[in-house]
Amino acid sequence: MKVLVLNAGSSSIKFQLFEIAGWSVVASGSISRIGEEDALLNLRWIEDGGQSRQLDQHHPIVNHHVALEQIVAHLRDTGALTKQAELKAVGHRVVHGGEAFHLPTVIDEDVITAIRQMIPLAPLHNPAHLDGILVARELFPGVPQVAVFDTAFHQTMPRTAYRYAIPDAFYREHQVRRYGFHGTSHAYVGKRAAAMLGRSFDRGNFITLHLGNGASATAIRNGSSVDTSMGMTPLEGLVMGTRCGDIDPAVLLYLMQHLGLDHQQIDQLLNRQSGLIGLCGVNDMREIHRRIEQGDTKAELALGIFCHRLKKYLGAYMAVLGEVHAVVFTGGIGENDAETRTRTCGKLEPLGIVLDETANRAESGGERMISSAESPVKVLVIPTNEELEIAQQTVEAVG
Ligand code: ADP
Repeated sequence: MKVLVLNAGSSSIKFQLFEIAGWSVVASGSISRIGEEDALLNLRWIEDGGQSRQLDQHHPIVNHHVALEQIVAHLRDTGALTKQAELKAVGHRVVHGGEAFHLPTVIDEDVITAIRQMIPLAPLHNPAHLDGILVARELFPGVPQVAVFDTAFHQTMPRTAYRYAIPDAFYREHQVRRYGFHGTSHAYVGKRAAAMLGRSFDRGNFITLHLGNGASATAIRNGSSVDTSMGMTPLEGLVMGTRCGDIDPAVLLYLMQHLGLDHQQIDQLLNRQSGLIGLCGVNDMREIHRRIEQGDTKAELALGIFCHRLKKYLGAYMAVLGEVHAVVFTGGIGENDAETRTRTCGKLEPLGIVLDETANRAESGGERMISSAESPVKVLVIPTNEELEIAQQTVEAVG
């Protein structure tokens, strides 16, 4: 039996098809630029003989329905999924589950209504996820569909961590609170960290740092999220590729009152033109390092601010947790950028973090420990695998 994981964005659908026995990936790929003349279909699959194959095609794809139809047709033609009976379930990544969803949930009409009601909290994401869910229901009638929410893992945060210090009514009447995101990734790397240390997840305290284009830190106590850096939206917290992260809210008032910016301009400024790109003109960390080597002071400052913010969250979450078993780096930057890890963990020996610089700088993919043997707090690099986590949670949800 197989499980299909779908991540439907506003102009793209990413997918992975897993064989449940052994969790191997049978096929994966994406369709991007949906709605445009040169939409791109990219498909990778494993043939019967075990050989890996790849297909890239450009052609017009008008909407999500056609996109998913094409994915299904290709999965059939390549032999990856020849009949619906092989499909145990479809798992959908859904960014915002608000307070309604603590767990992966089998989708019915009520769940669809709830995801729709959450659109004001995630206007860019939830409509696209709904498209994906509705089309998948049409194409796979009778196959259970499961929603796996980015916010769900953080629903265990205590009120002291999730409430903002603003009048109560804004929470009660308008759901203004911190939700947190990247929950699937934090949960996945947390579980892997526990496995690497040989302890059960529900007895592990971890600080997980997901550093991709979006970035967030989470404090996990005994397997549950107790604080995380993103808030009501993914704008709060760490410095990101194009998002500012934490900022004095009075800056927004200043921009409105003195520079005449309206809410759309402020949204654009803080979500798309800030963070690394705002500081130095690029958001690709590899390019930032190239520029630093050439003496670019803006790039140096951008990396400095990125790592300083990260170190502050690391220290804060060590204080929140008291005892920490491991700090985990993941995401494109967390997994690949030794310099970011050095700057973030450097000089923290008094707090029990002793990095092994040779291990940190070693060219190696995969899961690894980069702290020295005597470091009381272990430092781990763990490639995230949100699709696998969604696949496993989906199968768990359908039983
Ligand atoms: P997304 O949030 O879009 O999934 P990723 O997790 O793919 O993002 O991370 C993207 C970031 O990872 C970019 O800043 C990119 O420059 C950085 N990155 C990827 N590979 C490397 C590398 N080898 N060294 C440093 N940074 C890297």
